[in-house]
Amino acid sequence: MSTAPPLYQQPDPSGHFGPYGGSFVSETLTHALAELRSAYAHYQHDPEFLREFHYELAHFVGRPSPIYHAARSSRELGGAQIFLKREDLNHTGAHKINNVIGQAMLARRMGKPRIIAETGAGQHGVATATICARYGLECVVYMGAEDLKRQMPNVYRMKLLGATVVPVTSGSQTLKDALNEAMRDWVTNVERTFYIIGTVAGPHPYPMMVRDFQRVIGEECLQQMPALLAELGLPGNGAELQPDVVLACVGGGSNAMGIFHPYLEHPQTRLIGVEAAGDGLESGRHSASLQKGLPGVLHGNRTYVLQDEDGQIVETHSVSAGLDYPGVGPEHAWLKDSGRAEYVGVTDEQALAAFHRLCRREGIIPALESSHALAYAFALAPTMRADQSILVNLSGRGDKDLGTVAELAGVTV
Ligand SMILES: *Cc1c(COP(=O)(O)O)cnc(C)c1O
Repeated sequence: MSTAPPLYQQPDPSGHFGPYGGSFVSETLTHALAELRSAYAHYQHDPEFLREFHYELAHFVGRPSPIYHAARSSRELGGAQIFLKREDLNHTGAHKINNVIGQAMLARRMGKPRIIAETGAGQHGVATATICARYGLECVVYMGAEDLKRQMPNVYRMKLLGATVVPVTSGSQTLKDALNEAMRDWVTNVERTFYIIGTVAGPHPYPMMVRDFQRVIGEECLQQMPALLAELGLPGNGAELQPDVVLACVGGGSNAMGIFHPYLEHPQTRLIGVEAAGDGLESGRHSASLQKGLPGVLHGNRTYVLQDEDGQIVETHSVSAGLDYPGVGPEHAWLKDSGRAEYVGVTDEQALAAFHRLCRREGIIPALESSHALAYAFALAPTMRADQSILVNLSGRGDKDLGTVAELAGVTV
């Protein structure tokens, strides 16, 4: 018998999920991370902190987000019933705001008046700028110069909200370069600065802390699904009134960890993470770290990383900027090795087809990231029975992607 703690009790006190996670940072940041760990250890159980967090989620974000039965798509596909957890209806249009509120609340309590963040597509930057405006905190967002050009509306949003957006011109001028620049800023200004990381990556305690703030997604689903399944006369997963499958897209992995984590203790529910297969898993142009990467250290933790034979980080590709990241949260690496979660790939083309299907069949314009999870659900549903169910985390809305979709369709908007 194994004496390892159950999956849902990970990480260990040093931030390890099995062989993954941990904290690989320079001397200067060791102290800052220790300070953050002790603040979080205190506030994560503080009733006043939790009360304020849930107040903000209810009144500023608009939680709980509903679960919607995609009846028309389910009927047409002729298999399992597809349900959508509507994170796209949150204020600022995605799940990212949940985590940003939690971290900004910690920053205030730790007396840090200055917030820094990195952003790829701009969604995490917008969520961070939003909370900084609300709390009166100074906000600096690092963004690769290439990404900046592609995401002008989000850059302007951040500026409207009072943030300073710093273009990063080193390396490939994308997300991983923005991450390096944010780390450098943190080292230099650590006394008065809080670094808000946007996904379940980074050094301990970030992967655990971001997961905890995003857990609200799965906790709500556990509450909401029984009534929805009962109403449709569906039997649930065989053991309880919960879905047979929970599906989410995986970039860094925060929306997936948020919906997966409360389900780890419900073994009859299959958990499937969908990575961006770009032009195809064999094309070399994708962002499928868990399926095509190797263990290595990136962004302060050990995880699966897309790297060449010399350990150099390779360029990634996805039609959705939010999935375009060469690493993945360490807890996903552990869930993959343990077999509790499965990880699959969906190409740009399949994601785009799912995007259009949801628009036309359900009247919902999804984010291109979320469209990866939808595409897999649409393929899986016909292989299942009509009394089975799939719950998809619809992580965000597609407004930000209209330009990309129009360009690919050769349309000028
Ligand atoms: C940022 C983003 C993602 C990817 O990030 P995760 O940490 O993997 O969740 C997915 N969907 C949307 C809508 C996003 O904005």
